[in-house]
Amino acid sequence: TYSLGPKISNWDQDRKAWLVQNSEFPSHVKGKPRILLVTGSPPKPCDNAIGDHYLLKSIKNKIDYCRIHGIEIVYNMAHLDKELAGYWAKLPLLRRLMLSHPEVEWIWWMDSDAMFTDMVFEIPVSKYDNFNLVVHGYPDLMFNQKSWIALNTGSFLFRNCQWSLDLLDAWAPMGPKGHVREEAGKILTANLKGRPAFEADDQSALIYLLLSHKDQWMDKVFLENQYYLHGYWAGLVDRYEEMMEKYHPGLGDERWPFVTHFVGCKPCGSYGDYPVERCLKSMERAFNFADNQVLKLYGFGHRGLLSPKIKRIRNETATPLEFVDQFDIRRPMPDKS
Ligand code: UDP
Ligand code: MN
Repeated sequence: TYSLGPKISNWDQDRKAWLVQNSEFPSHVKGKPRILLVTGSPPKPCDNAIGDHYLLKSIKNKIDYCRIHGIEIVYNMAHLDKELAGYWAKLPLLRRLMLSHPEVEWIWWMDSDAMFTDMVFEIPVSKYDNFNLVVHGYPDLMFNQKSWIALNTGSFLFRNCQWSLDLLDAWAPMGPKGHVREEAGKILTANLKGRPAFEADDQSALIYLLLSHKDQWMDKVFLENQYYLHGYWAGLVDRYEEMMEKYHPGLGDERWPFVTHFVGCKPCGSYGDYPVERCLKSMERAFNFADNQVLKLYGFGHRGLLSPKIKRIRNETATPLEFVDQFDIRRPMPDKS
């Protein structure tokens, strides 16, 4: 049967010893766990050339967020395991990164079609001290409805530990492309509410695994829905102007979504669930909505959410240091919570 690699069974002790011996690579920096964000896209150009432009915008958006918040970032375009091509590619990659970066405490996967739309919000990481997997989801959809969208694997965090390696091992067997993936798809469609008939995907497989072995895994899984670790774009992108009028970055929830994820849009490939024009327009809006938060420090903003053009939002000054802290979104806002 399929395996991600040689069985590793002593990772927690081995990693701990490594950290002691390599104190120049600490797993915590300034009291915070080290986080590595990983994303990627297929090794070849998009079928649709404009898709490559949006992949570029999407990685710029992630670089901005990570720079502002001191998170390291990896962009992967290789298929580390030919069997697990496509959306399954994240599994061997996550395993490889855990093993090659023992100093990293949390590995955060984010899809290429997801963007940060709240550049101020930070993951409340201490809330997850006793958990190893953090994923956006709803317990009711999961355990009562067995819905295929009970959780979303477009943005989730794994702790670098033995438990996570074991979960990846248990998750991967439905992934090998061809016969295995096709047959597994039938099992998933038969068991998950609302799932169309298609080959096994990583999200459905994770839901199915957690449902069928709840006692084994769920005590270390945090289903997060207090903020949008993943936010479904369709209900959000048309409300950005309203959000800008009423709220401010830093909230992360429906008032100012942390992440906007373009589920069902495929500007790079061929078969999406939505017209590609609507997707591109919405991605443009999400990008500019986020970019305004970045450009503010430099005194600029987009002319509108659909415009790549920018305008000055304040006058130049001969004494920039007087104001610099006022515009830096990394600093706490004095009058807002
Ligand atoms: N992905 C990748 N390499 C591939 C295919 C996909 O790195 O060859 C990543 C990419 O970041 C993508 C994610 O896997 O966003 C999920 O794949 P899916 O096909 O579901 O694409 P999406 O609908 O999210 O664009
Ligand atoms: Mn996606």
